[in-house]
Amino acid sequence: MSYVIDPSPVASLPIEGESSRFPVRRIYCIGRNYADHAREMGHDPNREPPFFFLKPADTILEAGRDFPYPPGTTDVHHEIEMVVALKSGGRDIAEADALSHVYGYGIGLDMTRRDLQGEAKKLGRPWDVAKGFDHSAPCTALVPAVRIGHPTKGRVWLNVNGETRQQGDLSDLIWSIPEMIAYVSRLFELKGGDIIMTGTPAGVGAVRRGDVMEGGVEGVGTIKVKVV
Ligand code: MN
Repeated sequence: MSYVIDPSPVASLPIEGESSRFPVRRIYCIGRNYADHAREMGHDPNREPPFFFLKPADTILEAGRDFPYPPGTTDVHHEIEMVVALKSGGRDIAEADALSHVYGYGIGLDMTRRDLQGEAKKLGRPWDVAKGFDHSAPCTALVPAVRIGHPTKGRVWLNVNGETRQQGDLSDLIWSIPEMIAYVSRLFELKGGDIIMTGTPAGVGAVRRGDVMEGGVEGVGTIKVKVV
């Protein structure tokens, strides 16, 4: 195979304690998956089926690197989320089989240009410019499920400059990980390399240049990213 221009490198994430990397194909993100966050965004958590949006794979920003404040916004928000990485996929995956497709877990930040998202919502436009901008998906190294199992509870938290902003617990997820995998697989063919950002608890808010975001999911890991 030859290309008329050089192809972009494959987006990837490190694996904790290993030299091989996880190649990222697609990033599926669920909206409003914690009741208290759905409420803070003005929605009823009880009446909605799940909905998803995507970020391009190359929006991954490897944890340890600084997050460059993006252009076109004055209101960039943090959303701390557990990340699920799939080692295999398929269509119409049954909930009972879903976890057998999981390679491992990590911690991510679904960074959001909230002002552009608000405008898009108001005008009935897509969210891509709000969610899929360059470096909008800071993410840690992945931890294989064979090491930590499949987490279903544990504190989810985010501090900014040492002050608590977001708090929740994995046990508060409205849609579980098997339910999310099954649901997405009815709309898309999932493949190994796909990752799912599993939603954020309440307390989302703006960051400024110089801020340090530090958060984690109990039993999975922590992330620390500086805004520059
Ligand atoms: Mn999110």
